[in-house]
Formats: sequence, C-alpha cells, structure tokens
Amino acid sequence: MLQSLNTTPILYLMRYSKLFGKTRKQAPKDEVATNAKLLFQGGFIRREVAGVYNYLPLGTRVLNKISNIVREEMNAIGGQELLLSSLQNKQSWEKTGRWTAFDALFKLTSVLENEYPLGPTHEEVIVPIAKQFISSYKDLPLSVYQIQTKFRDEKRAKSGILRGREFLMKDLYSFHTDEKDFNIYYDRAKKAYKKVFKRMGLDAIETQAGGGAFSKISHEYQVIAENGEDEIIYCPGGDFSSNAEVSPVKEGKQCDLGHGPLKKAKAIEVGNIFPLGTKFSDAFGLTYKNKDGKDLPVVMGCYGIGITRLMGAIVEVHNDDKGIVWPESVAPYQAHLINIKYQKSNIKYAEDHVYETLKKAGIEVLYDDREDVSAGEKFADCDLIGIPVRLVVSKKTGDKIEWKKRGEAKTELLTVDELIKRLG
Ligand code: ATP
Ligand code: MG
Repeated sequence: MLQSLNTTPILYLMRYSKLFGKTRKQAPKDEVATNAKLLFQGGFIRREVAGVYNYLPLGTRVLNKISNIVREEMNAIGGQELLLSSLQNKQSWEKTGRWTAFDALFKLTSVLENEYPLGPTHEEVIVPIAKQFISSYKDLPLSVYQIQTKFRDEKRAKSGILRGREFLMKDLYSFHTDEKDFNIYYDRAKKAYKKVFKRMGLDAIETQAGGGAFSKISHEYQVIAENGEDEIIYCPGGDFSSNAEVSPVKEGKQCDLGHGPLKKAKAIEVGNIFPLGTKFSDAFGLTYKNKDGKDLPVVMGCYGIGITRLMGAIVEVHNDDKGIVWPESVAPYQAHLINIKYQKSNIKYAEDHVYETLKKAGIEVLYDDREDVSAGEKFADCDLIGIPVRLVVSKKTGDKIEWKKRGEAKTELLTVDELIKRLG
C-alpha cells in the first residue's frame, strides 16, 4: 500500500493538565534574549548547554509547522527531500580545504582515533553522491534538500535559539548545466523564499550580501528586529537592501528611485542563498556530458533557511508584555480553550460538548482543564503561550463560547457552530 508522509494523524487535542512542559512565572537568569526567555516561560524549550536547546512538545509542534511550510515551498520548486548524515567524511572536507578553513567546524575523535567533522553544512556530502548519479545533461537540472540538524562551534551563543551550536536548517542544493539555467532556478528559489517567510508572518527583506567562502555575492533574507545580530542598509520603498558589512552606500543617502533616505536597522538573517559556480564540482570532479559529448563542470547553488532561528525570529517580532503572539500558520494549536468552573455541569458542557465538537471538526485545541487553578492564572498562561484564539466557557457565557484573539481586546460570544465555521 502506498503511504504518503503526511498521513500520520496530528494530535488535535491536548489537555493542559497532561502536557509535558508547563509555564513558569520567572524567566531564567542566564538568558538575555527575548526569544529564549519567552520560549522557556511558555514551556516550549529547555536549554541543554549554551547554544543547545531541547524542544518540548509545544516547541516541537511549532518547529514541525515551520518545517512543513518550508517543505511545501521547496517541493513546489521541484526539490526532492532526503536526509544526509551529521557525522561526515574528513577526507571530503580536506578535498575542499574546509577541514582547516571552516572556523566553526566541530571535529570529533572516535575511540579508534578516527576523526570526523560534525556537519555544519552538506556540500562535502551531497556532491560526491551527486557524482554517482549525474553523468549527462539529461540528468540536469536537479535539486535536493533536507531539514536536518547542523553543528557549528559558534563563539557567541547568547541569542537563544537564534544562534545555536546545534540547530535545524533546511538546506537545498541545485545542479545545472550552465549559469543561464542556474539563474532561472535562483530566481524561482527567491520567489519561494519570499512565500515561505510571508506565510509565517515575517517580512523578510531580500538583501545583497557577501558570499563568504562560497561565492562573490549571495542573497540574505533579513527580518528587522531590535535583537538582530546583523545590520542592513535598506530603502523604505523596498527596492534595495544590503548587508551593512558589504553595502556600497550609506544610511541617509537618497534612494535612486525617489523613495527617500536609505535606512539602517538591526536584523536577523533567516535565510541565505548562494551561487556556488563550479567551486564544489571542481573539488570533486563533478562533470556531465553535453549534447556533443563534451565533459563540462556542473554549476551549483545552495539555499539555506534557519528553521530553529525562524522560530526565534517569529517570537522576537511577535510578542507583547504578556507573552508570545504566534501567527496562525505556525501556532502550536489553533485555539486555547479555558474552562472556568462554576459547577460540575459546566465542566461536563465544556468537555462533552465544546471539546468533543472541536475534536470532531478536526480543530487543534489546547484545553486548560485544570481545576485547581484560578481564571486569572489560566488567562495569564494563555497569553504567555500565545495561541491565536482564546475560547472561554464560563457561567457568563451560558451555552455559548467566548472568543478572543490573542493581541486584541475585543471578545464575542459564539455558538459552537459559529466557532467551528471560523476555525475550520
Ligand atoms: P550567521 O552569519 O548568522 O552566523 P551564516 O551566514 O553563517 O549565519 P549560513 O551558512 O548562511 O549561516 O546558513 C544558512 C542559514 O542557517 C542562515 O541564514 C541562518 O538562518 C541559519 N543559521 C546559520 N547559523 C545558525 C546558528 N548558529 N543557529 C541557528 N541558525 C543558524
Ligand atoms: Mg549566511
């Protein structure tokens, strides 16, 4: 029987009393970044050591939602998903010169004294494999991607999940006959990237940047945020943005298209795409035969998105003094149902009727069923966790349900049917 990857049933309903990972009133003393504080307090993450985080069930749901959006858009540009190894081959890294040149490379020594790089990126893994399957122009173009854990020995790891020593990245690699074909795909990838960030409620500015050890230029996707580690110079009209490190112009200069003075802002790099030319193809002898039977080097591109960094960036941008305000598309649940007990029959109504009906309708609900906790505390936890819709069943609501959006003050009384229409 054929089985799609996405047939696994989602856990639609969760009782808060049973949830692994609860809220905390205090932020940890050793965290300075907003994302780390709020995600800790909301019960999404726990720190292992500096720059390394564990994702609890709420956090894992958010990561899965982010990953699935990225997956859909990468599939839409023809990317084939695979999963490459974290423990890599030292010889491949020596071939490209990066065993010594890659500053943040973790190097492991086994009990047998063999050395392994712990993958910070995967060009050295994918190119030798591609070499086994690409031999003719008929095998091109090709693009493959993965969502996988990366390791980098970052010097500073004070930005919570924005900068991990272990973090999740989506990396896609594309293979082409020539620059022209590469450029067509690079433009498609740019469009896909814009869709990815927009779907997550982020305004990511496409920004010219240096290519690092990879290439002359690259394009970064930068989200303006106070706690960002990068700086961009950008046009408020949206036609220009450059990483301040490589910017040909300064803040305050008039935009050529008359949009006013260029601005400078702190920003978070959530994605980065690079033309690789034949750098890695040359290192591994990755060539193909053209129509005339001539051997030519394969032209490549690589395309990264920081999955865990995106989760942190979303929290940095979407929060208030009460907690996180998740965009609907990545929220751990669609609705947060609160039962304010006033008599036994009310619990029965909330549980048998509202909860069961939402379950049948396939709506993802976190149900705060705790009986020993005050209404005020439940509301505060709900705001902290940041699920987009708060639903309340109480004496005041009778046989209706109170609806309130996170971040808005307005409440409405709805019937269960109206509720399902809105959330369905
Ligand atoms: P940075 O300049 O922030 O160190 P980078 O330019 O070295 O990042 P890339 O190699 O371009 O990173 O990686 C692709 C994407 O992976 C980045 O755009 C970013 O979103 C994410 N990323 C990179 N390093 C980290 C990290 N240490 N923690 C979390 N995400 C990261
Ligand atoms: Mg980068």
